[in-house]
Amino acid sequence: MSKALWADVDSYFAAALMPADPILDAALAASAAAGLPAINVAPNQGKLLHLMARMCGARRILEIGTLGAYSTLWLARALPADGQLVTLEADPAHAKVARANIAMAGLDGVVRLHEGKALDTLPTLRGPFDFVFIDADKPSNPDYFAWALKLTRPGSVIIVDNVVRDGKVLDPEAEAKVQGVRRLAEMLATEPRVSATALQTVGGKGWDGFILAVVN
Ligand code: SAM
Repeated sequence: MSKALWADVDSYFAAALMPADPILDAALAASAAAGLPAINVAPNQGKLLHLMARMCGARRILEIGTLGAYSTLWLARALPADGQLVTLEADPAHAKVARANIAMAGLDGVVRLHEGKALDTLPTLRGPFDFVFIDADKPSNPDYFAWALKLTRPGSVIIVDNVVRDGKVLDPEAEAKVQGVRRLAEMLATEPRVSATALQTVGGKGWDGFILAVVN
């Protein structure tokens, strides 16, 4: 199986289940035009986040790692009119594009973007959040997960993206971003406050996966 075939299957289902969306497409185009890296979630992954947030009736969502706000828009659209999404972004250039995309989507009343290092912002936030999406600098994953536990309640859902990385997660000598995942897995092995699983994914973004945890 090749990456090209995985991408074709993504496109096949995207055509059927995720028709062209002028706002989401414009957000991606604006991100690309501003030179942001294309490390946003894929459309089917964005829709998965959206559906999961709806499935758990999320009213308050925390996102760590905004980039150009592509996943932010998917998640914010899952909220009720009085819902709130707090998103954290360290890079001012990314935050600028994200703010413009959030406004363009008409979601600036729902989304609050905090510019700055997430580990500086997290202690200033008040929980509980119903749904947390962790997708920033990977070496900090264990710290972000620890904060997610402080800022959630029983029943909250926590997702951590990019935990497989072409299978590099198996390598104890791998780079720091992989070590962040491995330390998180070790932490979860003895963490009684959550029940978690990990799923591998393939598609246009290659071979990767995510951790899904529910707070007990
Ligand atoms: N969630 C986004 C999406 O799918 O559209 C993609 C996020 S991208 C993978 C990771 C983002 O985290 C980048 O924009 C990066 O600047 C940001 N980031 C990196 N280190 C950070 C930190 N310490 N605090 C907050 N954001 C950080």
